[in-house]
Amino acid sequence: MFDCHVHSSFSGDSNMDAVLAVETARKMGLKGIAFTDHLDYDYPDYDDVFLIDFNKYSEYMDRLKQDCKEIKVFKGIEVGIQPHVVKESLEVVKKYDFDIVIGSVHVVDKLDLHNGDFCRGKSKKESYSRYLEAVLECISLFDDFDVLGHIDLIRRYGCYDDKTLSINDYRDYIDAILNKLISDGKGIEINTSGFRYKLDSPMPDYEIIKRYRELNGEIVCTSSDAHTPEYLGYKFDYIRELLLKAGFKYTTHFENRKPVFTSIAS
Ligand SMILES: [Zn+2]
Ligand SMILES: [Zn+2]
Repeated sequence: MFDCHVHSSFSGDSNMDAVLAVETARKMGLKGIAFTDHLDYDYPDYDDVFLIDFNKYSEYMDRLKQDCKEIKVFKGIEVGIQPHVVKESLEVVKKYDFDIVIGSVHVVDKLDLHNGDFCRGKSKKESYSRYLEAVLECISLFDDFDVLGHIDLIRRYGCYDDKTLSINDYRDYIDAILNKLISDGKGIEINTSGFRYKLDSPMPDYEIIKRYRELNGEIVCTSSDAHTPEYLGYKFDYIRELLLKAGFKYTTHFENRKPVFTSIAS
């Protein structure tokens, strides 16, 4: 399988050496690994942490891609989308020959999800609805990406005892997001970092994965979002079963921004 979402030490929030990550992935039997380090313009309070030198990053990853013969390495980027930084984010995406671009929403209304600022003072219904509405706005404004990152990230950072996101409560938003992705030929990732954050499920969870298939979505990427070697390919066997159960026959990774399908049928 391919791990389509990995952070190296180029990202300010990761210390994972890219060479060590590749070596670990190879030993685990992964077929490929995509580095998708962060571009998050105007991240509240942490502007420097999530901005990296993409000239250096791009050169480094090109060399790594060339040097690795036993496992495929891909040069990617995870773009934190906010409506007011779309233009400069697009410029970076266009400037480098990435294999994969993940579009993610980490900040809503200039409030950080991660530190709880966004949810503070809102009911669960208010914050989940506004988050999903913002995701829809962001993917309408910024369309130069291949895969939407962790669709229900709000579950990971919501400050509520019950973090579940039942599709019936937010169906209009979820269907609008999934339909937009499908009509634009874009995919979703199955991000297993949910397990690290005690969600007991990937992001998105099974209900949304199944809904994407029901609506004829075909592009699903297996993603660990690992920032340390022990989480590379985390729970991928479990995800494979989940995808088969939802009716998928293939997983997808991206090479040179083109989807490549691999059978997961046994
Ligand atoms: Zn992310
Ligand atoms: Zn990430």
